[in-house]
Amino acid sequence: MNCSEAEKRIQHFIDSKLTATEEAAYIEHIRNCSSCRQELMSQFTIDHVLKSMNGTAGDDISYDMRSLLNSRIIESEKWIKAEKLRKRVLYTAVALGEIAAAACVLFEMRGGFVWNLIEQLLGK
Ligand SMILES: [Zn+2]
Repeated sequence: MNCSEAEKRIQHFIDSKLTATEEAAYIEHIRNCSSCRQELMSQFTIDHVLKSMNGTAGDDISYDMRSLLNSRIIESEKWIKAEKLRKRVLYTAVALGEIAAAACVLFEMRGGFVWNLIEQLLGK
């Protein structure tokens, strides 16, 4: 991700509207790019002040913006990890399902042409 892409994603990041993949790329960028980190810090601060004025900032009325932003990023990374894990579990389940389906097909073919061929190939 380059700086102009990162810039476009600042508000989406603040509003938690990025996908896990986008958010991971964005966080990686701001970790390595001080100007984008600064830009995020300013927009995050403005956003927080506006929400505080509207009373939508929740119980969090702290103005230690650096630590607020840090905890936001830590939350984000937890979420990204959870999303990755969820996807991995899903893919594994799909893969297992496919293996099971393939095994069923082979089982049904048992005694049939394909099964005989396999047995011949295995020398039985
Ligand atoms: Zn940048």
